[in-house]
Amino acid sequence: MPRTRSIAERLADLRRRNLYRRRRVVEGPQGRELRLDGRLLLNFCSNDYLGLAADPRVRESLREAALRWGVGAGASHLVCGHTAAHQELEEALAVFTGRPRALVFGSGYAANMGAIGALVGAGDRVFEDRLNHASLLDGGWLSRAQFSWYRHGDAADLECRLQAAAGTGARRAGQALVASDGAFSMDGDLCPLEDLVGVAHRHGAWLMIDEAHGLGVHGRGGRGLVDARRFGTADVPVLVGTLGKAFGTAGAFVAGEEDLIELLIQRARPYIYTTAQPAALAAATLTSLRIAEEEEWRRERLRDLVARFHAGLGTLGLPVPASTLPIQPIMIGDPGRTLALSAALEDAGLLVSAIRPPTVPVGSSRLRVTFTAAHGLADVDRLIEVLAAGLRALPEEGDHG
Ligand SMILES: *Cc1c(COP(=O)(O)O)cnc(C)c1O
Repeated sequence: MPRTRSIAERLADLRRRNLYRRRRVVEGPQGRELRLDGRLLLNFCSNDYLGLAADPRVRESLREAALRWGVGAGASHLVCGHTAAHQELEEALAVFTGRPRALVFGSGYAANMGAIGALVGAGDRVFEDRLNHASLLDGGWLSRAQFSWYRHGDAADLECRLQAAAGTGARRAGQALVASDGAFSMDGDLCPLEDLVGVAHRHGAWLMIDEAHGLGVHGRGGRGLVDARRFGTADVPVLVGTLGKAFGTAGAFVAGEEDLIELLIQRARPYIYTTAQPAALAAATLTSLRIAEEEEWRRERLRDLVARFHAGLGTLGLPVPASTLPIQPIMIGDPGRTLALSAALEDAGLLVSAIRPPTVPVGSSRLRVTFTAAHGLADVDRLIEVLAAGLRALPEEGDHG
């Protein structure tokens, strides 16, 4: 293998391994159906779980706020971009999560990078679930703290690693941070929260939970996993939520104690060195947050859709995912077969994304079905029917060369 490969060779290599990715051009708003390449497809790809991305009230709120605030924020939050709209959203998010304070970031990626980078650095240690979202992993790797990962969902493995780290080195033991997705984005399973809280307590580590897929969807009023298990800031000091998924807008936030948020304002580089998100977006998010809290039927609908999907898979004799969230993986294994099945579904008018490495570990390529409150039970039945036909028609492992 030459030490440097040309860009063209690297691209060809991705194609050969069925790992090449392409963007599709969407021609309309998110919803139950998506207009793509001139066709209307039944959409099972979107993380718009509550169906709020194109809600008329959220749109109207964005329009009105744009008339009031204009479009661009003009500067970063620390210069002159932090408006009353951002402030109001932060206060509402603090109330929603039951925490003293919240800080809005431009994206979940930025929030995770920013929070980890502000909390730990050289001399500290960071421990992450092996299947954490890329933004948590990248934040850990780039923090300059000593990075280790523990087996997926395995708090005992985490504890061993914390113990081992404590046993080495005569130098000052730095701060330890444990970070995990609350609900894992590609499998929809939940982290072992009670165990993580216990281990973090025993070792004096901070615990950071990313609730990107739990908030809005899980627990009372959509307050997420951490709230459902009644853990406060003493147990989970760093809580991250995103606004581009269940809340249907864009951005993210970190919620916690007053001092944590102050530290992030002083130290989180992806917060400091970036233009504030538009004030109108903050206003629209405030509207969607209210709807998400109040309209319990959206969460009930999601539970009904998942139950119907599981029943359907059961009748087909297919493995039923452990996930009860609107993220439902259909494990295939090989990336080529996964792509073939996704293409077959699309021919039949259904959009279901094929998820391949490096997003998921090698050998675990899958279709990732996501439901939204905009779907009906008949949509699930259609999915099951087309899926059954697609799986029957799929060549055996290795057949396609
Ligand atoms: C999507 C996601 C993010 C990133 O959020 P964005 O706002 O899309 O940047 C972070 N963490 C998890 C677990 C996610 O699924």
